Amino acid sequence: MNMPLPSETLDSLRFDNRFTALLPADDNLHNTRRQVYGACYSRVVPMPVAAPRLLAYSREVAAELGLDEESCATTLFTEVFVGNRLLPGMDPYAMCYGGHQFGNWAGQLGDGRAINLGEVLTGDGRHLTLQLKGAGPTPDSRRADGLAVLRSSLREFLCSEAMHHLGIPTTRALSLIATGEEVERDMFYDGHPRLEPGAVVCRVAPSFLRFGNYELPASRGDLDLLRRLVDFTIANDFTELGPPCPESYQRWFKEVCRRTARLMVEWMRVGFVHGVMNTDNMSILGLTIDYGPYGWLEDFDPGWTPNTTDAQGRRYCYNNQPHIAQWNLAQLANALYPLIGRVEPLQEAVNEYSELFVDGWNEMMAAKLGFAMAGTEEDRLVKELMQLLPRLDIDMTIFFRNLAELHPAMEPAADGELPAPVTAALYRPEGGDEGTRMAMNGWLRRYLHRLSLVGGSDEERRRRMNAVNPRYVLRNYLAQMAIERAEQGDISFIALLLDTLRRPYDDQPQRSHLAEKRPEWARHKDGCSMLSCSS
Ligand code: AMP
Ligand code: MG
Repeated sequence: MNMPLPSETLDSLRFDNRFTALLPADDNLHNTRRQVYGACYSRVVPMPVAAPRLLAYSREVAAELGLDEESCATTLFTEVFVGNRLLPGMDPYAMCYGGHQFGNWAGQLGDGRAINLGEVLTGDGRHLTLQLKGAGPTPDSRRADGLAVLRSSLREFLCSEAMHHLGIPTTRALSLIATGEEVERDMFYDGHPRLEPGAVVCRVAPSFLRFGNYELPASRGDLDLLRRLVDFTIANDFTELGPPCPESYQRWFKEVCRRTARLMVEWMRVGFVHGVMNTDNMSILGLTIDYGPYGWLEDFDPGWTPNTTDAQGRRYCYNNQPHIAQWNLAQLANALYPLIGRVEPLQEAVNEYSELFVDGWNEMMAAKLGFAMAGTEEDRLVKELMQLLPRLDIDMTIFFRNLAELHPAMEPAADGELPAPVTAALYRPEGGDEGTRMAMNGWLRRYLHRLSLVGGSDEERRRRMNAVNPRYVLRNYLAQMAIERAEQGDISFIALLLDTLRRPYDDQPQRSHLAEKRPEWARHKDGCSMLSCSS
């Protein structure tokens, strides 16, 4: 029997490039920095690199694309997904978009360091766009180099996959490839540039369209382009809404609001803080997109932001995310208004977002506490808990995971001695002042009483709680350890994290050290508690 050569398997990726086939292109083919008018994208090819080395790939994403493990181990795979070679059918381009950054209109931004290779048509008829991040400059690079460093690429690769396995809508990551070249970065913009290893991530999503793609033509009064892009989006990515027309535009915006509300509920559930929720980082599909200075809540501090650039205003801190998402939706509504011509339906959808978020959040929190539904008493318990947790210096992930270990029949102490599953989550052994600990025990007593009324077996409740309270998240310090080891040439920790985070809701006894709370050394360390947009 003739075995197919692995390279043939890779070549068997089928492309059907709707975006470039159906939307207007920039007619300038030179890769020079510029404003791009009247076009949704500019054609541009990735920049070749000297010595690419595959550091990791996601076998699940590969499988979705129809790539087997053997193909992923070939030199061709590494060459293609670092940008050194194009496959037949690829039609690379950078998308043109704008955005509101930190509340201000920033004009054209665009794919400054992302190059879309084309849309793979999967075996089951879906379109998945391949996008290289860090593969060289594009017309949208402005004053930057179009490159990405290993630390930020590794963080994007691992977190995309971790979020997917947590069940949270996200862009995916196929591969993480070191370029073998160095990139200069001033990590904290404080005059200390250093050379860092470069890397390229291949991201995968049904679409990489952002709110900013619609805002840019709207800001320029280019309604024809805006309409073409909206029609394209509805016809290709929201087929269930019917053919594009002013009525379906309204239904579409409503659907974007609905998905965004769901995404915010999900981020809040697991303690994810995006860090840069500018409108150019908001996916039109409601996916988590653009992993930069993101972080995970460790001690439950609702005002925490991982992004040093945001440390003053805390615009993008944990608690503010749902509100900012709504603000971003309002910017999108403004952009779409000329196509719809009426404010009311847009306003209604933005208002409805709040209701959807609040209902979704209440249900989600009730589920985290093991309740089957969110009634008045459950809501009250949740509210009280939200007041107490920030006063305790307590790890969010461990606290919620351990709640399932409490038995409804147990009786918390009358004094300030907290039960062991709660103590295990505290960052300081004493955990808040005596009054707070007593209040916590009071809360636990009422909570357990309420749980005892729910009925059902303990085991069943535990199973439900463990399905929404992960044991494993990509803790900031774990990502940092993976980075430091990879920079020393040891990539085994990336593989270990990737594999562990495949099953975030399962107890994995051999890997319990990866579920531990942040060690003291990481409390104020760069990369663990402080990140910047420099990447
Ligand atoms: P971000 O804050 O990462 O979402 O990026 C905001 C904008 O800056 C986007 O248009 C990016 O494409 C662009 N950008 C960020 N880093 C670079 C870079 N190294 N080279 C070119 N463009 C970049
Ligand atoms: Mg971005």
